[in-house]
Amino acid sequence: MSAWLEVSKLSVRFDAGEGGLLRKTQGTVHALSDIDFSLDKGETLGLIGESGSGKSTLGRAVLHLVRPSEGKVVLEGNDLTALPENAMRPFRRRMQMVFQDPFDSMNPRMTVGEVIGEPLRLQRIGSAEQRRTRSAELLARMGLDPTGMQRYPGQYSGGQRQRIAIARALATNPDLLVLDEPTSGLDVSMQARILNLLRDLQGELGLSYLFISHDLGAVAYLAKRIAVLYLGRMVEVAPTAELIAKPAHPYTASLLDALPAFSRNTASPHLPPPQGEPPSPLNPPAGCAFHPRCPRAQPICHEQRPSLAANDGARTVACHFPLPATAGDAPPRGGT
Ligand code: SF4
Repeated sequence: MSAWLEVSKLSVRFDAGEGGLLRKTQGTVHALSDIDFSLDKGETLGLIGESGSGKSTLGRAVLHLVRPSEGKVVLEGNDLTALPENAMRPFRRRMQMVFQDPFDSMNPRMTVGEVIGEPLRLQRIGSAEQRRTRSAELLARMGLDPTGMQRYPGQYSGGQRQRIAIARALATNPDLLVLDEPTSGLDVSMQARILNLLRDLQGELGLSYLFISHDLGAVAYLAKRIAVLYLGRMVEVAPTAELIAKPAHPYTASLLDALPAFSRNTASPHLPPPQGEPPSPLNPPAGCAFHPRCPRAQPICHEQRPSLAANDGARTVACHFPLPATAGDAPPRGGT
């Protein structure tokens, strides 16, 4: 039986000249390549990786805010990639995004009531009065005073604005939220409040989350499974506790070892943090894209790209020489 949401062979490429930063550069940016994953109703999948790994692009491609170059996004058996825009509308209601900086995604001239009701207005759902009622209900559910409907986003703190952004994302009664760094930039106590709110909402509403963050602690708190992205490809997907205790991909291990707050299984091999910068997605290395930074790389890694394959139990790994579960097992010889 297929999962509630199935993403298969999803790739996003674009010309380097599109969009500002690389305007003078020629070539194709491989933002995402051959992404496969599934998500069940009510489940959270965490996405981690360095800046530029493709986490945000993946969230946007699932919601069709970025057009996939190849691959499928199938929700309850409906292939969204094959639908014309007008047929996508009912699915857009069901999938919403919460952005890293809510202030950037809010019109500062709109009142908070208008901000929350905006997705309903754009989707032509309900009367103006019904939208106001819904906005007030959501504001109260977020723990904010509904009499603040006439105030403006700039009159709220960062944590309050993030709660307003979550209220706006919930206005259309979605099933799936893509949460793109929702706690980034908040102080520790506000991060905890937002994470608790998200967990409570998931329990109440049966929401599924794709939770993108560079904060492994936040991801581990909400996600049952974690997927690790490197240069636009998934390199490891595993249940959260197993991934943290016994990472199998050298990149995952080095990411975890760069986070001293994360005490993981001391019997599992440890690796130094990733050295240098990731290669350019304009010109990804042949073979395994991690090989220029990998302390375990062998000649085959320079030539053959490893596929994401079953490793043990529910874990999948893309590596020719995945790490053993214990440090006692010998590493590959002759590493470069
Ligand atoms: Fe390192 Fe080779 Fe595995 Fe890539 S395939 S992560 S280079 S050991």
